[in-house]
Amino acid sequence: MGFPGYQYIYGPVASWRYGRSLGIDPVSAAKKTCSFDCVYCQVGKTVLLTDQRSVFVPTEALIGELQRVPPVEIDQITFAGNGEPTLAANLGEMIRGIRNIRSERIAVITNASLIWRPDVREDLALADVVIAKLDAATETMFGDVNHPAAKLTIEEICGGLRVFKKKFKGRMVLQAMFVSPNRDAAAGIAKRALSIGPDEIEVNTPLRVSPVKPLGPEEMAGITKIFREICAGIPVKTVYEEERKKSEPFCRESTERRRGKESA
Ligand code: SF4
Repeated sequence: MGFPGYQYIYGPVASWRYGRSLGIDPVSAAKKTCSFDCVYCQVGKTVLLTDQRSVFVPTEALIGELQRVPPVEIDQITFAGNGEPTLAANLGEMIRGIRNIRSERIAVITNASLIWRPDVREDLALADVVIAKLDAATETMFGDVNHPAAKLTIEEICGGLRVFKKKFKGRMVLQAMFVSPNRDAAAGIAKRALSIGPDEIEVNTPLRVSPVKPLGPEEMAGITKIFREICAGIPVKTVYEEERKKSEPFCRESTERRRGKESA
C-alpha cells in the first residue's frame, strides 16, 4: 500500500512511547546524513557524516506536502527520519510553519550532537517535546557507540543538554540505547542523566532490525533498576515494559527507510 509523492513525511508509526506519530524527515537526503554513525542504527550506515547545518528541504515544500496528508488519526507530529533533524538549518522555521496549520503536539527526536549551539537550542525550544539521545558516559564510549563526526564531545553535549533543560518550557526526555559496548555503563550514563534533570528517561535496546543484537529483558531490567535508583524521582520507562499501539503507515516503504524494519 502507499500514497505516492510523499518525500518528507512518513508514517503514521505506532510507538511504545508516543502513540501514533506522523513522521517528518527534515533532511530527507538520498544518502543517509547524520552527525553520528551509531553501531546499532536501525536505518542503516551513515554515508555523509557531518556536523554542518544546512537547508535540505525547503520549508514551503514540507508544508505543501503536509497539507496533502490524508485525514489519519495521530497523537503527535515527530521530527526524526534517517538522519539527524537538527542538521536542518530551517528546523525552527518548519516547526513554526506546522503550528500554523496543525494542532497536534510537535516532538523532535535528536541525537543532541549540536545542542551545544545556541541556534540549535532555539530551534528545539519551539517544540513541545524533545527526545534527546544519551548513550555514553565517557568520550571513549561515545566514540565506540555513536561514532560521532570529528570534534563532537559527550562533555560539550551534556553541557548543552543542561543549558537547554534549564530554559525549555516543554517536556524533555532523555533516551539511552543499550547494546553490547555500553551494557556495563548504566551507572555512569544515569549519573550524567541526573545532572541534566530530564522530565523522563527512556531505557532502550534496539528491537527493530539492527546490525547488533538487542540486550535481553533480564539484562534490561537490571539496567533499568540502576537508572531508577540513581535517578530517583525521574520517571524511567523501558522498552520491554511498554505496550505498542497498532498503526498502519500510509506508505510502508518510506516509513521503513526512516524508521527501520520491525524484527520478524
Ligand atoms: S541512530 Fe540516529 S543518531 Fe545514530 S546514526 Fe542512526 S540516525 Fe544517526
